Amino acid sequence: MKRSHTYLALLLFGAVLLNALPFHRDEDPDPDDTKMVKAIFDYVLVKGESYQLLDHLCNQIGPRLSGSDGAARAVEWGKKVMEEDGFDRVYLQEVMVPHWERGGQEIAKIMLKGGGEDPLNVLAIGGSVATDPDGLTAEVVEVQSLDEVAELGEEKIKGKIVFYNRAFDQRNINTGASYGGAVDQRVAGPSQAAKYGALGVVIRSVSSSFDDEPHTGTLRYKDDVARIPAAALGVQSAMRLTAALHKNRSLKLYLNMSCRWLPDVKSYNVVGELTGSEHPDEIILVGGHLDSWDVAQGAHDDGAGSVQSIGVLRTLQQLNYKPKHTIRAVLFMNEENGSRGGKKYAELAGKKNEKHIIAIETDAGGFVPRGFGVTASDATLAKMRSWLPHFDINTISYINKGGGGADIRPLNAMYGVPTVGLRTDSQRYFYIHHSRLDVFSAVYRRELELGTGALAALIYLVDKNGL
Ligand SMILES: [Zn+2]
Repeated sequence: MKRSHTYLALLLFGAVLLNALPFHRDEDPDPDDTKMVKAIFDYVLVKGESYQLLDHLCNQIGPRLSGSDGAARAVEWGKKVMEEDGFDRVYLQEVMVPHWERGGQEIAKIMLKGGGEDPLNVLAIGGSVATDPDGLTAEVVEVQSLDEVAELGEEKIKGKIVFYNRAFDQRNINTGASYGGAVDQRVAGPSQAAKYGALGVVIRSVSSSFDDEPHTGTLRYKDDVARIPAAALGVQSAMRLTAALHKNRSLKLYLNMSCRWLPDVKSYNVVGELTGSEHPDEIILVGGHLDSWDVAQGAHDDGAGSVQSIGVLRTLQQLNYKPKHTIRAVLFMNEENGSRGGKKYAELAGKKNEKHIIAIETDAGGFVPRGFGVTASDATLAKMRSWLPHFDINTISYINKGGGGADIRPLNAMYGVPTVGLRTDSQRYFYIHHSRLDVFSAVYRRELELGTGALAALIYLVDKNGL
């Protein structure tokens, strides 16, 4: 009896001693960090102004395709906003960007037997060449993949319009995976078809929707084949075309587009910084892209990411947080059709010998933040995962391997900078993305501000604890 009492007393004493020690174990969340993360989210939800910034960007400036007046006005606006916020440094980085215009005319219609027509909902794919002014009329070959074009070969493809009709896979909960699984038809489909003598390309829009809203996006012409016109059909239009083809294999499609290429234009990335107090030469980057497609306001893609990047610096500033490292917001130009801003940024970072601790991109829409995708060492990933308990489960609930963004990819490729991409609830993104539906009214204030909060919290944790 006596012996076991002593044993119990020793055990209790040991437990009390462990608890009283002035440090916590590494794997326990630091209560100061939990408090700060909560303060960040409280701030954005009550006082955050990302939403008001987005209102201005969408409703006063509007579409911002590279080289357009809208893009130029967005650059001026971004610089002015950050200057008025009193960030420590605000400046522009010059970059030459491509300039493509949709033009006035976009027509696609099925030519019915007996002279009738069935007009389809269509948008030129960004970067496409025009048709002849009279349009293009040809028979249609429907395919499901680029490989199928090669299998059919010149005999079946030459002189025709190739119709890529592989659907967006509705089964993935992560809709980004379905987008990735279908987008080759838009990006590489036109040159693949041209290689076998096609005269034009139409695709089923790369979208999760069942409506008839066409979705544009970029294409990449290969240098060694003819540049042929390429357009995206609304999903219902694509289904009408495939049904019509089942009835009549030799029907003709009429396509008329007046888009055009203009000389490159001088444009800019917009940069704002809070200077680090201990390591001013070590940079934590957060960025989105300021350019957008021309058919709407680019509210989710990527007005949201642009205003969140500004909002992160604002939030830390308003909470009187003095960062140890320099925290830099970058509004990149030309992500959508060339990524020249991201490439120029990395090139300049190399010339200036800048050290980036981490680069974070927000380009997944202004929806509820769900997680982060991280391209970094396993040790860095493990350290970031140890911060998960600071976040409410309804915001950031996972940190996965693999992630970043098109604008920060060159930093990783050229200098091995770890990159992070904000992941959002993706269920609505591909209904909206690159279509006329990407407008301010499709963004909800709390969802947008939660994204700002998640980014600010991650940046605070990196700044304070290092990687
Ligand atoms: Zn984007």
